[in-house]
Amino acid sequence: MLALDLRTIVFLTGAIGALMSVVLFFMHRSYGHAMRGLLEWAWGPLVIFVSTLLLGLRGIGPDWASVVLANLVLLSGGLLLYAGTRHFYGERLPQWTWAAFALTALALYWWGVVDPHYNARLLLVSAFMAALQGHHFCTVWRHDRETFAARFMLVVLACMVVLMLGRSLSVPFLPAGADLFAPSPLQSLYIGGYAFSLMAMTVGCVLLMSERLRQQLQHLISHDTLTGALSRHALFQRGREEVERSRRTQRPVSVLMLDLDHFKLVNDQHGHMVGDQVLRDFALRVRDELRKIDVLGRFGGEEFMVVLPETDSIQARQVAERIRASRSSQPGLPQCSVSIGVATLSESQSSQPTQTMLDRLIADADRALYHAKASGRDRVAVAAPLPA
Ligand code: GH3
Ligand code: MG
Ligand code: MG
Repeated sequence: MLALDLRTIVFLTGAIGALMSVVLFFMHRSYGHAMRGLLEWAWGPLVIFVSTLLLGLRGIGPDWASVVLANLVLLSGGLLLYAGTRHFYGERLPQWTWAAFALTALALYWWGVVDPHYNARLLLVSAFMAALQGHHFCTVWRHDRETFAARFMLVVLACMVVLMLGRSLSVPFLPAGADLFAPSPLQSLYIGGYAFSLMAMTVGCVLLMSERLRQQLQHLISHDTLTGALSRHALFQRGREEVERSRRTQRPVSVLMLDLDHFKLVNDQHGHMVGDQVLRDFALRVRDELRKIDVLGRFGGEEFMVVLPETDSIQARQVAERIRASRSSQPGLPQCSVSIGVATLSESQSSQPTQTMLDRLIADADRALYHAKASGRDRVAVAAPLPA
């Protein structure tokens, strides 16, 4: 480390950051409409690259450029990365950051040009960076501690905070007249470590973005885009899980089959767009009547299915009655009644495979639904409990 030229390290890191910036700009172009913060993340490393060019002028060019401007541009890069993360999580940059930035700029000008003082500048910049990355850490921590991407980012940010705090605390022990690129083990550690962390941070941004993309894709696959209910595939998957759980815990599980009455008439009289709105509104109404653990899925067309874990036949009927009695609160939307078939798996000791049990449950709910339709619609019919 000692043998390495710090100026070269700083420049190379900046150049790699600029390369990462190209990747992030490209990602912003492709996914910017689906995710916020990518543009700030893309500008961050590019601005930091510019700061490394300016820092490289130290001792060669004027001090206002290599000291004041270089540090301000460096801090702006850090600020942009933080702003990107805030926007990524749907938050604005807090007001204090602007005030802190303005004060730091003034102090930098003072200790850079009016009364040059390297140690004071070092303390200032390190303390600002430590505070900034500390807040950056807290933002990620508040939103996500589970995914690999977030954990990676948290580790990088924690390293940066430790590094910058250590650097601030080491200022009193620095020899008088120290210089940014003066080779010393401590300086190498700080500059090398910080440069590496900045690079790792841009990798963290890309990881966070691809994780968000994966989640959005997963949601798209498992949810119906019109109503937000589970798609058929995901619905059956959850249905199997709940039947399996019911067998394991010996607790009942119920299924509701819901079919909107004379829905074709809504389409015919008001058009398909209004029909779509009625479907969306109906899904919202159903969800309002359900608990968090209940599962709502779109079986197909104007038919929905609800899985009610830990719910016996009597409770399931009550839920179904609440759904049937609910009415749209949207003004101007045509009212459409619903028929519901209820089936419950109460005897859980069957040796039949889970899929067969689920199939039988759905078939029973379907038969009950048919019965509700045949006896006049806008009603709930309950199938006899499934025998083992
Ligand atoms: P019933 O009371 O017997 O259930 O009568 P129905 O009219 O509700 O049933 P039918 O099966 O005859 O018609 C269902 C209609 O639902 C026909 C189809 O065009 C409409 N539909 C299915 N999916 C959608 C959708 O996504 N949007 C709209 N607007 N209509 C849909
Ligand atoms: Mg139907
Ligand atoms: Mg119908």
